[in-house]
Amino acid sequence: MLYADVIVDISLEKLDRVFQYRIPPALEKSVVVGSQILIPFGKGNRRMRGYVVGLSNHTDYPVEKIKAILQILNRSTTIESRMIALAWWMRRQYGGTMSQALKTVIPVKQKIKGKEKRYLSLAVEQGAAAAYIVQHGKRSKAKAKVLGELLEKRRIPMEWITGNLGVSASVINGLKEEGLILIETEGIYRIPSFLSKGERGEGHQLSLQQRAIADDFLKEYQQGIRRVYLLHGVTGSGKTEVYMELIRGVIAKGKQAIVLIPEIALTYQTVMRFYRGFGNRVSIMNSRMSQGERYDQYERAKIGEIDIMIGPRSALFTPFQELGLIIIDEEHETTYKSDTIPKYHARETAAELARLSNASVVLGSATPSLESFYLAKQGEYRYYELPERIGTRQLPHVEVVDLREELKAGNKSMFGRSLKEKMEQRLRRRQQTILFINRRGYAGFVSCRACGKAVECPHCDVTLTVHNNGTLRCHYCGYTIFTPKTCPVCGSSYIAAFGTGTQKVEEAVKREFPQARVIRMDADTTSGKDGHQKLLSVFAKQEADILIGTQMIVKGHDFPHVTLVGVIAADLSLFSNDYHSSERTFELLVQAAGRAGRGEEAGEVVIQTYNPEHYSIVTAAKQDYLAFYEQEILYRRLLGYPPVGQMMAVLAMAKGEKDGEQLLEKMKEEMQEACSMLGIMVIGPTLASVGKIQDIYRSVMYLKNSRIADILTMKEKMEVYLNSLESSLEVQVQFDVNPVHIY
Ligand code: ADP
Ligand code: ZN
Ligand code: ZN
Repeated sequence: MLYADVIVDISLEKLDRVFQYRIPPALEKSVVVGSQILIPFGKGNRRMRGYVVGLSNHTDYPVEKIKAILQILNRSTTIESRMIALAWWMRRQYGGTMSQALKTVIPVKQKIKGKEKRYLSLAVEQGAAAAYIVQHGKRSKAKAKVLGELLEKRRIPMEWITGNLGVSASVINGLKEEGLILIETEGIYRIPSFLSKGERGEGHQLSLQQRAIADDFLKEYQQGIRRVYLLHGVTGSGKTEVYMELIRGVIAKGKQAIVLIPEIALTYQTVMRFYRGFGNRVSIMNSRMSQGERYDQYERAKIGEIDIMIGPRSALFTPFQELGLIIIDEEHETTYKSDTIPKYHARETAAELARLSNASVVLGSATPSLESFYLAKQGEYRYYELPERIGTRQLPHVEVVDLREELKAGNKSMFGRSLKEKMEQRLRRRQQTILFINRRGYAGFVSCRACGKAVECPHCDVTLTVHNNGTLRCHYCGYTIFTPKTCPVCGSSYIAAFGTGTQKVEEAVKREFPQARVIRMDADTTSGKDGHQKLLSVFAKQEADILIGTQMIVKGHDFPHVTLVGVIAADLSLFSNDYHSSERTFELLVQAAGRAGRGEEAGEVVIQTYNPEHYSIVTAAKQDYLAFYEQEILYRRLLGYPPVGQMMAVLAMAKGEKDGEQLLEKMKEEMQEACSMLGIMVIGPTLASVGKIQDIYRSVMYLKNSRIADILTMKEKMEVYLNSLESSLEVQVQFDVNPVHIY
């Protein structure tokens, strides 16, 4: 390569552009992406430090004007320069500024006094806090904000309140003096001692299939082959055991590993397995940790105190010296996509980080994302399969029940005849049942029978959600009121709360099975520290017969006494305007079915639906991923949706109702020629499906075409266009490349 793309010292503001430098022949072999170099900069040719973020063979500048790199400062790339190169890639791939990307990949140390951390919690009853918000919320916005958060999360690090919420220390002191909150102090996070003492155990002897996969991977690794692998294994097929074997092999070569797990599956069980396998060379990160705590964990990785980091998305940026392997479990999960700028996908970002670090990536899932399976089929990813459960355990038997037939037969209950009979049977046999409902559109709300309107947030385009303490709350902005006695629109007193899906199911279970011991898991019953974990452990100890819940109960838990899973209404996630909805429904049903029969007894699953012939449901019932994939990819190909096509959302947010849309309209016109030359289709702009959040209106348009490079070219053009506009224009524009949901 002849030229290097260089960003100058990251303390400068000039971050968002690269400068091209010539690579002198003497340095040609040693300059790589991530190298720290010395360059002559600006008119005076000031000697400055720079980072190489890209290499190329051609330049758009006149060759004689390009200066040469003076010197290379480090032979091998440092962690820092690798992260800077990654940030540069993320900025190009996902939009936003370089400084936003840097903040994502390199956590900044926050000054914490000594080694102490402070936490806030409520000092009064929930009801009293809610009352305070309702009465004083208008005048004391900051105080209400803090109390609102505490109602949701119970215990919050002080620095999160002052940092993320932007609430001042004097407001917090005020709340303390009024006796509304408590402030506690605690030492910094370390591995809980009962965990680090945990005895190390031998793992299982791998099955032949597990062994074959591990051997193949490690052989390639030994040969220096680095790439992305997809491990497709049904639930309970022993994927986690394979991950641990791969990690052992990689660590034995003096390398380190990152294991990404969706937060919701980051269970005590999983964590304990890793501790037993690797002792205190493992560290864990979770999203409840403050920035300071996370920084602490990153530091431990940097100085080599640990070899393995387990955590959600952000654990990807753990600064290991010799990163050798990145594992992404449940790779199909949408939580791997960031919802703040840069809107990166951990799967793609992991592949790029691995490329920069000479590491491999292993993606694992029972229901791979269409993207990953597509790439595996194309030979981009190496494909491994574990088609059977470990041991003699069989996949459960699945029955699909047509709810229309139930209605015809005069059954108006939530439970079809088959499900009801099977539940009774389990109660008699003292076995356990899980009832699963699809969450979408099923939060509790209040609506008026006279005018038909639901009570909405005045600041957002959504209905308010019912909470146990007699309040209604907005999930987007935190606006809270007491549940009104009369309709705010027409004044009628015929106003009633509609329970959440889970509440309704609970009521029906109690009516029809009065003898059953029932646990309901949803946002209302699991708030508070470990609330989630407590309920699950009650169920695991068989102190309850029936567990009712949403998504959060179907991921990764292992309850050996559950022999029946009932899906109350499988269709709830099927019909939305989002092209992902069939994929999400299939995933959820397969995952839910996977909860049954994990012990000695065989499992049964009943899927109740109004659309028994829909391919998501038919293929999920057969647990036939391939059949689902073939149908779904056909539809994606037909309509040019990812992974066959490529897509980018351009989201505009503004205070004025029409401002965002007008800006997008103007930009579309401006870009028309370039778009048609590249064969890019532009859809919209229109109002987003949640058209307003916190009094900010949201409009969206989509770009669609078959090549990601073309889409990124357009993104760059739009970024230049937006920068050229006067800054007085108060519209914020965000890009989302291959979004995981439709705006
Ligand atoms: P997955 O991650 O694919 O869901 P796990 O690795 O959790 O599968 O394995 C499922 C169950 O089988 C776990 O209880 C695990 O301890 C057990 N298991 C996994 N591999 C073996 C093996 N080779 N021999 C015996 N038991 C195993
Ligand atoms: Zn009304
Ligand atoms: Zn709101």
